[in-house]
Amino acid sequence: MEAGEAKSKKAGGSRLCCICNQRRPVLKRPKTLQQICRECFYEVFEEEIHQVIVGNRLFKSGERVAIGASGGKDSTVLAYVLSELNRRHNYGLDLFLLSIDEGITGYRDDSLETVKRNEVQYGLPLQIVSYKDLYGWTMDEIVKMIGLKNNCTFCGVFRRQALDRGAALLKVDKLVTGHNADDIAETVLLNILRGDIARLSRCTSITTGEDGPIPRCKPFKYTYEKEIVMYAYFKKLDYFSTECIYSPNAYRGFAREFIKDLERLRPRAILDIIKSGEDFRIATTTKMPEQGTCERCGYISSQVRPLSLSHQVML
Ligand code: SF4
Repeated sequence: MEAGEAKSKKAGGSRLCCICNQRRPVLKRPKTLQQICRECFYEVFEEEIHQVIVGNRLFKSGERVAIGASGGKDSTVLAYVLSELNRRHNYGLDLFLLSIDEGITGYRDDSLETVKRNEVQYGLPLQIVSYKDLYGWTMDEIVKMIGLKNNCTFCGVFRRQALDRGAALLKVDKLVTGHNADDIAETVLLNILRGDIARLSRCTSITTGEDGPIPRCKPFKYTYEKEIVMYAYFKKLDYFSTECIYSPNAYRGFAREFIKDLERLRPRAILDIIKSGEDFRIATTTKMPEQGTCERCGYISSQVRPLSLSHQVML
């Protein structure tokens, strides 16, 4: 490093926030490695999300929007930031919290208590829909029956439909989820590793399900997980951080660790993986699976089959 560069780094970088040049930095921004103060961090964090919302025209004024709320850091920060931006920029949205109760003792019952507090803290009406009410089974009961194997596969299918049903109850126009940039990069990688071309082609879309009952958006598509954690920490947001007891998914775990290693070496790696996924083109000769609709309930089923997985479990 040149002597002048080192000197200016010391003067501008480590002593004063490199954005406002006035306050002392309190953090190194994970996405850019800039040393910045708390106020500038809040500003860049919120402004980037606002730009993603506006740039991708995620919402229209007057829309009713449900925030998929699990009580975890991502959805809690999303509920907080979206409420703030809605007020600040007059989006004109009616916001709601929508939670799914999978029936997992010691995990979801505790995290739902957090969402109930968020309902009061942010003044957002909360709707909870449970697997037990919708399907007649809790995840605890399913695991008792099938054992500790492929639990997330069942749970994922159930949740997808439960969110659609909850959104229909709330009569919302859109559903937003707290999927962040790390989640999306991880999914791109997993789909490549599995050769799942169909999912690879749509996993980077910021809005999905436009042909289904309720479109889903990901305002945190470019927001780093570490920054979400920092934001929640500095803002002292009330969230729940325990992992699901049925979550061990070794393959996804490896992809996550790999992304974290890449991020340590080069923070931009996360954005670059997302960009690679976005720019990916499918050969016209590739045969794509068709998305079907369940004959009984009319909701989307990921594979063409006569009955949805939920019905198979019930039968
Ligand atoms: Fe369901 Fe798996 Fe998520 Fe647990 S980790 S809530 S089992 S999808």
